[in-house]
Amino acid sequence: MNGNYIYDVIITGGGIMGSATAYYLSRMAPGLKVAVVERDPSYARASTTLSMSNVRIQFSLKQNIQISQYAFQVLEAFEDEMTVEDRRPRIYFRRDGNLFLVGEENRPAARRAYDLQLSLGCRVQWWSPDQIKERYPLYDTTGILGGTFGPDDGHFDAYAALMAYKAKARSQGVNYLTGDVARIRTAGGRADGVALASGDVLSGGCVVNCGGAWAAQLAGTAGVKLPVIPVKRQVFALDPAVKPEGPLPLTVLLSGLYFRTETGGLILLGKSMEADPVGFNFTWDDQRFMEILWPELAEFVPAWDRLKLVRGWAGLYDVNTLDHNAIIGEWPEIGGLYLATGFSGHGLQQGPAVGRYLAERILKKPVSLDLSIFSPRRILENQPLSEAGIV
Ligand SMILES: Cc1cc2nc3c(=O)[nH]c(=O)nc-3n(C[C@H](O)[C@H](O)[C@H](O)COP(=O)(O)OP(=O)(O)OC[C@H]3O[C@@H](n4cnc5c(N)ncnc54)[C@H](O)[C@@H]3O)c2cc1C
Repeated sequence: MNGNYIYDVIITGGGIMGSATAYYLSRMAPGLKVAVVERDPSYARASTTLSMSNVRIQFSLKQNIQISQYAFQVLEAFEDEMTVEDRRPRIYFRRDGNLFLVGEENRPAARRAYDLQLSLGCRVQWWSPDQIKERYPLYDTTGILGGTFGPDDGHFDAYAALMAYKAKARSQGVNYLTGDVARIRTAGGRADGVALASGDVLSGGCVVNCGGAWAAQLAGTAGVKLPVIPVKRQVFALDPAVKPEGPLPLTVLLSGLYFRTETGGLILLGKSMEADPVGFNFTWDDQRFMEILWPELAEFVPAWDRLKLVRGWAGLYDVNTLDHNAIIGEWPEIGGLYLATGFSGHGLQQGPAVGRYLAERILKKPVSLDLSIFSPRRILENQPLSEAGIV
């Protein structure tokens, strides 16, 4: 016997977006009936738990910078705010910084982004090659013009943060259900619930699609075509023979290769590449590291020509092929259908601001930070956001 259950808001996907939205909704509107439907409560394939967990101020679009400013604010108070009874989460927020290298080709974009960040009151510094070398002697700065360093940037335990949002949301009355959403239901131009693969139906006035790399598939069940594709990205964990003296910032080379220190003397490394396969592919291979990434790394950090590849993993970016930026808000053609997807590799840090914004929009409250620039309307109008430089 299948059931029909009634909610005010149904959130599909319980990753950082779904859980942050549920947290804000239940905080702003106690008593609201909110369900989060998540098919895998272990989150083994959720991007949230497979990410590099980096948070940075160094973006070149004003709203992305403001989103990160709010993330910093949230992360600082997070453990207190998310405490449930005597259970205080630990998210190990470490401000080891982000260092973006600057060369001839990206200098104008880096300068524009840097000036914008300063104008918004961010702490960011422009370093010469000597300043970089002085701070991080393992680096070979030959051929670079310098770098921009964000001392407030850093990383945290994404899984712990996700679990904290979930626990807090549940303590505020949110119902987490394990289930596979087969279809978003619509009637009379509005979303009115979801059908689960089990045959159960959840009815409600509002559906929020937080399906991550699966969000476009899910939207498709309501006839909505999103320019969002799942793209495999790999992360490698390395144990170098020569250890750095202290923590290294997330360092982004001109080629796009990036790495940072992790606990246990390890280095985490990744690089987005044109050839990264599209699809729901989670296989991991060491060939890419051995043949392409290691030589690149050892050129910049010569001491790391000796290291052990310890392990690696693959996760999915929900890549917005229109403009590589988030798609957030109500779908103009279907009332009550909200979207939060297309984060293209920087969504973890955007969870708090996006969750708060969606909750405010759904509850028809004034917004604390205007994110309407990310409205899904631009997809229908084929108007990509233009942003030079770092996205
Ligand atoms: C390798 C890698 C590195 C990254 N590094 C960073 C970083 O350093 N900083 C940063 O900010 N971001 C980073 N990101 C991006 C970030 O992880 C994502 O943008 C963010 O986690 C997206 O959150 P989400 O909640 O939208 O998606 P997810 O975390 O993927 O959650 C979506 C959930 O929806 C569920 N779901 C999907 N379809 C259904 C359905 N039909 N029924 C029920 N449940 C469903 C899934 O099981 C999943 O749990 C990285 C991503 C990857 C892959």
